[in-house]
Amino acid sequence: MKNTLITGLLIACSALFLAACNQAQQQEASSTQAIDTSKTYHWKMVTTWPPGFPVLQQGAERFANNIKDMSNRRLDIKVYAGGELIPPLQTFDAVSQGTVEMGHGSAYYWAGKVPEAQFFSTVPFGMTARGMNAWLYDGGGLELWRETYKPFHVIPFPLGNTGVQMGGWFNKEINSLEDIKGLKMRIPGIGGKVFAKAGGNPVLLAGSELYTALERNTIDATEWIGPYHDQRLGLYRAAEHYYYPGWHEPGSVLELTVNQRAWDSLPADLQAIISNAAMAENVRMLSEMEQKNMFALQELMARPDVQLHRFPDEVLAKLKALTGETLAEEAAANPKFKHVYDAFEAFRAKNKAWSDISENAYLAIE
Ligand code: CA
Repeated sequence: MKNTLITGLLIACSALFLAACNQAQQQEASSTQAIDTSKTYHWKMVTTWPPGFPVLQQGAERFANNIKDMSNRRLDIKVYAGGELIPPLQTFDAVSQGTVEMGHGSAYYWAGKVPEAQFFSTVPFGMTARGMNAWLYDGGGLELWRETYKPFHVIPFPLGNTGVQMGGWFNKEINSLEDIKGLKMRIPGIGGKVFAKAGGNPVLLAGSELYTALERNTIDATEWIGPYHDQRLGLYRAAEHYYYPGWHEPGSVLELTVNQRAWDSLPADLQAIISNAAMAENVRMLSEMEQKNMFALQELMARPDVQLHRFPDEVLAKLKALTGETLAEEAAANPKFKHVYDAFEAFRAKNKAWSDISENAYLAIE
């Protein structure tokens, strides 16, 4: 009797289980069938870059073209450079509010609104592109980034990296910390705060104003990006001392932002196309930067009026110590900043230890 009951229960359970399986299979089949491949999506993407800006704006446009090809034109994204549709620094708000579906820029531009966002682009003495990709894709960084942007209804993706930037163009040599005192330099973000702590005088200027300001001695120094973009801006004609490394921007991550509601409206295959096209363009932009900077550096070094210098160890050590102080102060005053800083710093320390015995050790061999 007891056995019959158990057998009966087992049969009933199996039947329920099979029914559940069938239902799940049907749902899965219907969700695949639910993709209406005749439906097309026309999206707008705004960027923070000037029209035609090499590598960055061009990369954003290549990304949109790749998506058009991969989706057989079902997702057609029209890309607008900064100022063509909205001012460059309103990109995040435009995506957040759904004025446009997508944006391309860099997370540190939104530091006024979301201070902890800076860790998802770059901070002084932070990680290089390799470390940032490892943290974002595989070390929990991207989840943290998405959590940070969630209240703004924005989904971020890494989409490009400048690589290690240059320290900048100076109209005099920097031989000690004394040489930084009172120096007027265009250097934005946390780097600017650190520079001020070291006695410098950071100023904010748009890229388009740099050449004239340096040439007319309105400023004594400026950083920009790397040799390729610096050369195009003609900065070597305004100051002769070119310093490295870019301690303030060791690997600036560029970001794709997508409006949450627009993302949710897409079928799964188009979402997968965006995710994978973003990853592909992330690699592509970094590779292009690397290749162009290599050649531009050679051309700049061939000029008799350009002198390349490494910042003195004493200066770099001081800037590093002041960066630690600056980040700790911000973290003490802002729990959200601390939350991201702690995760970033834990990963950075391990990445440094590994890099020291892998890439750094290998590259140090003469
Ligand atoms: Ca820069």
